[in-house]
Amino acid sequence: MMNALFVFVGINLFLWGWVWVVPVMVVFVNWLPGIARGAAPFPGIVVIKRVDEDKSQTLLHEFKHQEQMKKYSPLAVAVYLGWYYGKGLLLGKKIGELYDANPLEVEAYSSMYKGKKLPKYIKVNSEK
Ligand SMILES: [Zn+2]
Repeated sequence: MMNALFVFVGINLFLWGWVWVVPVMVVFVNWLPGIARGAAPFPGIVVIKRVDEDKSQTLLHEFKHQEQMKKYSPLAVAVYLGWYYGKGLLLGKKIGELYDANPLEVEAYSSMYKGKKLPKYIKVNSEK
């Protein structure tokens, strides 16, 4: 039990260090579920849907999620999201209303549309 906890904390510390040291890697994909245009599924990785329009706002949104992992640690973000959505769904709330009210999403949306400069990132594959 203790060993599993040490491994868990160790992985979190490794990933936490990773998001501080390694620039975010952006992977462009042709499909994402629903109306999603981007996602930050793992520490250090952002996924962006290939669309014809400007992707910089979506990038700013997803980079904010990476900054949140820097600030709170990847494990804390994962635990918080599990608690937040788990509790909300148990209380009978709809996933869409939970998403809209999620403080991490509210913060990420507020970082868009402000003419902010994109941080340096690694483009893993072609945008087109
Ligand atoms: Zn988001």
